[in-house]
Amino acid sequence: MSFDTLGLSDNILSAIAAAGFEKPTPIQEQAIPHALKGRDVLGIAQTGTGKTAAFTLPMLNRLEKGRARARMPRTLILEPTRELAAQVEQSFEIIGQNHKLNLALLIGGVSFADQNKILDRGADVLIATPGRLLDHIERGKLLLTGVEILVIDEADRMLDMGFIPDVERICKLIPFTRQTLFFSATMPTEIQRLVDTFLHNPVRVEVAPPATAASTVEQRIVTAPKEAPDKRALLRDVIRGEADLTNGIVFCNRKRDVDIVDKSLRKHGFNAACLHGDMDQRSRMKTLDQFKSGEIALLVASDVAARGLDIPNVSHVLNYDVPIHAEDYIHRIGRTGRAGRSGKTIMLATRADKKYVDAISQMTGISIAHEAGKTGDKFDNAEKPRAKSAGKRPGQSNQRKVASAPPSIDAPAPPRNRTKAESDSEYPSPDIGGKRPRGRPDGENSRKVVGLGDHMPAFLARPVRPGTK
Ligand code: AMP
Repeated sequence: MSFDTLGLSDNILSAIAAAGFEKPTPIQEQAIPHALKGRDVLGIAQTGTGKTAAFTLPMLNRLEKGRARARMPRTLILEPTRELAAQVEQSFEIIGQNHKLNLALLIGGVSFADQNKILDRGADVLIATPGRLLDHIERGKLLLTGVEILVIDEADRMLDMGFIPDVERICKLIPFTRQTLFFSATMPTEIQRLVDTFLHNPVRVEVAPPATAASTVEQRIVTAPKEAPDKRALLRDVIRGEADLTNGIVFCNRKRDVDIVDKSLRKHGFNAACLHGDMDQRSRMKTLDQFKSGEIALLVASDVAARGLDIPNVSHVLNYDVPIHAEDYIHRIGRTGRAGRSGKTIMLATRADKKYVDAISQMTGISIAHEAGKTGDKFDNAEKPRAKSAGKRPGQSNQRKVASAPPSIDAPAPPRNRTKAESDSEYPSPDIGGKRPRGRPDGENSRKVVGLGDHMPAFLARPVRPGTK
């Protein structure tokens, strides 16, 4: 099928040709004709499938007629993160090159005054994160009553980030007659409820079953030690052992660990940088550009910061932590093996992660091959120590030997089982802490006390008087 048959205008077709798109991707092929007819669309698709153009192209078609009024945007796109919002803006700039459109980007980290000026000019397309959008509405600077098309992108990520109440508030501020284009990679029940409440008889289009990893990604697990410095040493070992690693993303569950792992890698001579939600917008974009251009080889990132980023040609995804939500595994490894290319993913997992690994296997339907890292805890009960050969794969010598524990540079990470640690996570959900294994940090539980331990009973300390009986 070619783009000509979808019903798009000549202006748009020539912009598509200029962008170098030869034929529509499956999600574009399925969603665009329905969207052009004004139907609500529920698109189940991961990033990398071309889903952005599946909504931007029909939006452009609608925007060819009419003009925006001050503070009353004609279309609204909700994105969970600043990066994704900026990425959608870029994609509009490319395919909207034959249209005179006013684009407005409302994301945190940019001054309200600058954003107000843009809104005053009238926005054809408003691309926003939910929080900042509501801030503008509460300040009386924005009215959503003129919105003709609402796009909710990456809905399951909105859920993870706790944005669903904000999204619901926003949906209620937009006229009932709007068209809604809704995209999510997975369909948990909360998302289905949102769809049932706010979409009108949507056409459901799905390009890959939810939670399916690309078949071009080779997946492995290396068992890791619980101790933070050793785990970082194991990560370095894994990276060094991958001869074909050209660039990679290292995922951590917590912002704090993103910083620690990034510093540790750089201290050990790796060309790394980090990306997390606490960084200001400018440095996030700069880091991302440097990674895309190859100036930086390893990007240490949290899920929120890296969600949906369009980074072609990532050779490896390294999971420093096992993701708590199995869906995140799919999203993380979706950064490699894109557009039919091959990719590799390696996840460090401790014994305590077993239930999360099991959840991933259940979701993907794949039992991921695992091998023992030299200092790794035995991963499951089936893998009892095999005398001297424990820690090695059959036929494996020491080629994956773990570097000795690093010197003092690696600031010891605080224990992982405290509420405080969980609150450092970029996920707002407070219940994650409860899911983490309980117990005292750093193996205190397992320290064996022999006899009376350090305690000496007082009678043993009494001086012995010779000759007394
Ligand atoms: P997305 O899933 O929207 O993040 O898109 C992933 C990548 O595919 C982006 O780099 C797009 O520019 C690219 N892309 C989107 N549609 C097409 C197409 N029809 N042909 C080739 N590349 C495309």
